[in-house]
Amino acid sequence: MRIRDRLTQEQPTCSFEFFPPKSPAGVDALFTTIAELRDLAPSFVSVTYGAGGSTRDLTIDLVTRIKRETGIEAMAHLTCVGHSRHELRAILERLAAGGIENIMALRGDPPKGSTTFERPVDGFGYGSELIDFINTDSAFDFCLGGGCYPEIHIECDSAERDLAHLKLKADAGVDFLVTQLFFDNQAYFDFVAAAQDAGISVPIVPGIMPVTNNLERLERFGAKIPDELRTAITAAPNEEAIAEIGIGWSTRQCRELLERGVPGLHFYTLNKSTATAQIVNNLRDLLG
Ligand code: FAD
Repeated sequence: MRIRDRLTQEQPTCSFEFFPPKSPAGVDALFTTIAELRDLAPSFVSVTYGAGGSTRDLTIDLVTRIKRETGIEAMAHLTCVGHSRHELRAILERLAAGGIENIMALRGDPPKGSTTFERPVDGFGYGSELIDFINTDSAFDFCLGGGCYPEIHIECDSAERDLAHLKLKADAGVDFLVTQLFFDNQAYFDFVAAAQDAGISVPIVPGIMPVTNNLERLERFGAKIPDELRTAITAAPNEEAIAEIGIGWSTRQCRELLERGVPGLHFYTLNKSTATAQIVNNLRDLLG
């Protein structure tokens, strides 16, 4: 199933994102999480691509295994980090051979400690270039997703410039976009309106992450924490209380997004099922 086809249906999509675990025990735990979330009938799941090392191969193995063993549509993330065109092509061949039809094509982050991204030798410097590379190779017929940033990508100093860069992804033929996590819906609504004005007409799926106690980490993604949420989290007596606040906030956020007609919801699950399952169950009347 191509995600772009599913996104044209009236019923919003509901999808879950996982990361490749570092140990075999972590992989077993991930499949337990997937089994728990399967009852929620996700439209698709996705597996992120690491900054380097063995988890990169695991992304490819996991998506093919999830699709084959659970029947759930699985999207592979892929980044430009450290890869030449030749290597990227070999990965695309493996994904196609594994029956994967959907790829989230991204640039990736600069290495830890650096604020600038180094274009790999014979590789790509932007997500739009990777999207163009995949789309113009007649050997492949993937449905492609891209990332987008309602509160501006952290390396960009102007919303207008960031949007102009996003338009390059649309021009390269991206099929849909998924946003970075955010907690203020107005940022999403304003961003979608600006994107449409800029001629970006593909579906823009909001990315949702139930808040955890690590507000600093969330801010590193560029997400602004609304005062009301910060105050509630800071005053919470323990992790249980924080989880409850996070689930309540995300539920209200998703409810408003769905009521205003978003094409779907993409949950950053952090490989855990409890919070995501509670939020989705709270939204059953709207998600079907
Ligand atoms: P790009 O669109 O390439 O933009 C990066 C920066 O360059 C922006 O500031 C943009 O304004 C600027 N820019 C773009 N084009 C140009 C141009 N032509 N000229 C000048 N400047 C330009 N990271 C991972 O490592 N693995 C993952 O699996 C992963 N999954 C993600 C999933 C989603 C839905 C999202 C939103 C992000 C994900 N990330 C992942 C993080 C992502 O890799 C980083 O946010 C990265 O810094 C940007 O990638 P991009 O493709 O969105 O950036």
